[in-house]
Amino acid sequence: MNNERLQQLLANYLPAEYGVASLVGGQFIRGNGEIIRVRKAHDGSELYSYRDADETLIPQLADATKNAGTAWWALTAQARGRIMYQIGAEVRKEATNIAEIEAIASNKPVRDAIGEVQKVAEMFEYYAGWTDKLHGEVIPVPTTHLNYVTYEPLGTVLQITPWNAPVFTAGWQIAPAIAAGNAVILKPSELTCLTSLVLGVLIERAGAPKGLVNIVAGYGHTIGQSLIANAPIRKVVFVGSPATGRHIAVAAAQRCIPAVLELGGKSANIIFDDADWDKALRGAQGAIFGGAGQSCVSGSRLLIQENIYHKFVADMATASAKFKVGNPEDSETQIGPINNEKQYKHVCNMLNKAKNEGAVVAGELTVPVPDSEGFYINPTILTGHNDMYVAQEEIFGPVVVAIPFKDEADAIRIANESRFGLAGAVWTKDVGRAHRVAKQIKAGTFWINGYKTINVSSPFGGYGESGYGRSSGLEALREYSEVKSVWVETAENPLVNFGYGAQE
Ligand code: NAD
Repeated sequence: MNNERLQQLLANYLPAEYGVASLVGGQFIRGNGEIIRVRKAHDGSELYSYRDADETLIPQLADATKNAGTAWWALTAQARGRIMYQIGAEVRKEATNIAEIEAIASNKPVRDAIGEVQKVAEMFEYYAGWTDKLHGEVIPVPTTHLNYVTYEPLGTVLQITPWNAPVFTAGWQIAPAIAAGNAVILKPSELTCLTSLVLGVLIERAGAPKGLVNIVAGYGHTIGQSLIANAPIRKVVFVGSPATGRHIAVAAAQRCIPAVLELGGKSANIIFDDADWDKALRGAQGAIFGGAGQSCVSGSRLLIQENIYHKFVADMATASAKFKVGNPEDSETQIGPINNEKQYKHVCNMLNKAKNEGAVVAGELTVPVPDSEGFYINPTILTGHNDMYVAQEEIFGPVVVAIPFKDEADAIRIANESRFGLAGAVWTKDVGRAHRVAKQIKAGTFWINGYKTINVSSPFGGYGESGYGRSSGLEALREYSEVKSVWVETAENPLVNFGYGAQE
């Protein structure tokens, strides 16, 4: 560990003698694989290194999840709820530390990190309330029978998460999974596993059985792949890039294991000429430049009505030049660096492609990016059209393509001309139009006169190549449950069924 402050913070949760290791059944287990080196995005220096987890972990994970899962389901629903509520309390208590770890080690501006950690507490609190309400139902069937449906845990679920919102994504997936009675194996991104490990420790501190939530620290193509192929899991929930998602769904299908995929996006943020100018301007900036554009729901296609196009773009370029870009550990920083070198190179390549395609950069790149070896990219507005490569492929950086449209029908057509369908928004004072547009956009989340608001109580997920299945809300509990239909014969002289025909 090359950062004293990080070491000091981690000492509150992880035993120093293990370094960065996997948490399995309440024990830390060091990896034996290749050395993984994590660099600080601010200056490119090495922050820490650890060894990739290896397959020998899998039998231990199998025992740990089986024992803890059985113990967890044997508790009353109310007792599970109380422990989940306590997890929320532990997260709240440690929020400042966790946010600081996220800022140092996951390159997330500390002001964003603190908000995300608080959301994690909310997730456990929300699902704590569900543990004794996920009851079955009686189905109205002919009077010869009673039919009821119950919800049961799947067993053990595997969750694979990306680097852009590490602890937020971990909480978002772990909370509904355990509320529905499952045990969890979480494999966070190899680049940002520390806050997931801390969350794993806090879950145990709150009183959950050791082994209910296990965190595996390692690469996706090694241990991630092995877990899908060999771990005793009943579902894979993947949050990450479309290319990896496809690969994972195929690997899971080989074992008849269902998958939920939360993938990328190319969301359309639509500005009509009657929109509240200042609100739309601020909203458009937050939609793409928040998190340095490294958010799956980023409003990366900015559709602007043609009669206001040039002025809106010019105003946005001027306003965006005032952002404070810099070290994520600095409390003033609004936009941090790109998380890692691979992603930084991807964004640079996309900017080159845009130039070759004739996209023009609006305004001047006047944002003072820190003079460092770090992975910084200026907030950039490209003027172009929807057929450009950069308007169709995910950039996952602070780069927006501004596209003019003529009228409502044109805006809807352009917005839907994307293979993704994760999110979108419309800005207009015309209420009828706002709802007409919302109804016709093919996306799992849509905002009217706002952007990026999400809440644990509302379902989230994609259309098209943005994935399938839903996270958060009641829908997530269903994703994490097995459904059983029980039939009871109540007729005095039941008929013998030779087929599926009705008996009445
Ligand atoms: P990624 O696909 O490279 O990696 C995601 C995770 O998959 C990591 O934990 C990685 O180790 C693992 N992985 C990689 N190859 C694997 C394999 N062969 N088998 C098993 N696991 C494997 O994605 P990333 O670069 O970390 O994250 C950025 C992407 O995530 C973007 O496309 C973004 O849009 C998407 N994302 C989507 C959502 C959503 O909810 N829809 C949320 C956040 C991020």
